[in-house]
Amino acid sequence: MRALEADNSTVAAAFERIAYLLERSREPTYRVRAFRTAAAAVRTAGPERVADLVARGRLTDLAGIGPSTAKVAAEVLGGAVPAYLQRLEDSAEPEGPQDRATAELVGALRGDLHAHSDWSDGGSPIEEMARAAADLGHAYLAMTDHSPRLTVAHGLDAGRLERQLDVIAQLNAAGAGVCVLTGIEVDILEDGSLDQTDELLDRLDVVVASVHSKLRMDHDAMTERMVVAATNPRVDVLGHCTGRIVVGKGRPPSSFDPDAVFEACARNRTAVEINSRPERLDPPDELLRVANGAGCVFSIDTDAHAPGQLEWQRYGAAKAVAAGIPAARILNTGPLEDIREWGEM
Ligand SMILES: [Zn+2]
Ligand SMILES: [Zn+2]
Repeated sequence: MRALEADNSTVAAAFERIAYLLERSREPTYRVRAFRTAAAAVRTAGPERVADLVARGRLTDLAGIGPSTAKVAAEVLGGAVPAYLQRLEDSAEPEGPQDRATAELVGALRGDLHAHSDWSDGGSPIEEMARAAADLGHAYLAMTDHSPRLTVAHGLDAGRLERQLDVIAQLNAAGAGVCVLTGIEVDILEDGSLDQTDELLDRLDVVVASVHSKLRMDHDAMTERMVVAATNPRVDVLGHCTGRIVVGKGRPPSSFDPDAVFEACARNRTAVEINSRPERLDPPDELLRVANGAGCVFSIDTDAHAPGQLEWQRYGAAKAVAAGIPAARILNTGPLEDIREWGEM
C-alpha cells in the first residue's frame, strides 16, 4: 500500500515538474495543461486504481491521461527518469540575465504582488500557485485575479471575489507555506474609475490597477485616465502602465504624459509595477528612468498565470538594475508588514 502511494505521488510529481519547467520556459499555459490535468487525475484516482490500470496497460482509460502522459507514467513506474523530463531539465536551466547585481536583487525580493489563478485566466488553482511561491522562498504572494469587465479573462464579479476571499482565508489558516495576500487586478475604466466596488476594494490587501481596454486612447485623455487611477487611494500598484507587447506582432505602448502619471504615483504612494512577463517588460527603459527620477516606488511582479512563471522576476529585476533603481525603492524587497502598511495607506 505504502509503495503504491509513493509510486502514485512520484508519477504526479513528474507531471507537475514537467509542467513547471514548460511554464518557466515560456510555453503558453494551454500547452502545459495536459500535464497539470494528468497530475490532478492521478492524485484524484488514487494509488490502487492507478496501479491497476498500469498493470493492465490501460492508464489512458483514466480521464486526463493521453498517450504521451501515459508514457511518462510508465517510465516513472519502471524506475527511470522520464526521457522527456530529463530533456527539459537539461535544456531548461535558468535562462536570462545572470549578472551579479540582478541575481542579488532577485535574492532580495520577498514576494510577488501580481499573479493569477484559475479563478480568472490563470492555469492553476491558488493552492498550487502558493506552493510554487513557497518553494521559491517567497514570504507572500498576492492573488490578483481580473475584475468583472474583463469577461474574456473570466473576471470575478463581487460574489466570486467574496468567495475567493474565503478560500484564501482557509488556505492561510491551514498554512500555505507562504502568506497568500488577497487582491485584484482591477480594470481602469475610461474615466479612470475602477471596475469593482469601493467596499470590496477596501477589504483587499493589494489592489493592482491596469488598463486593458481602449489602449489607443488619445494622449491627453489617457493621461487623465491614468492620473485619476494613480491618485485613487485604493490603488496600491499601477500595473503594466503602457500595455505594450514586445513579441510576435507586438503592440505599441499607449500614449500618455509620463511626467504627470509618475508624479501622481509618487505623490499618492502608488507603486509603479515593473512587469516581468517576457512579452510585456513594461514600462520600457526610458519610462522607467522617468519614474525613477520622479521618486516612485516600484514593485517587481511576474503577472504569473502559472506556477513556473513565478520565476520570471529576474527579467523585471534586470530592468530595475539597468535603470539604476536601488533595492530600497522596490516595495517587494520589504517584509510582509511593509506590504500590509502600503495597502492600508
Ligand atoms: Zn493585466
Ligand atoms: Zn495580470
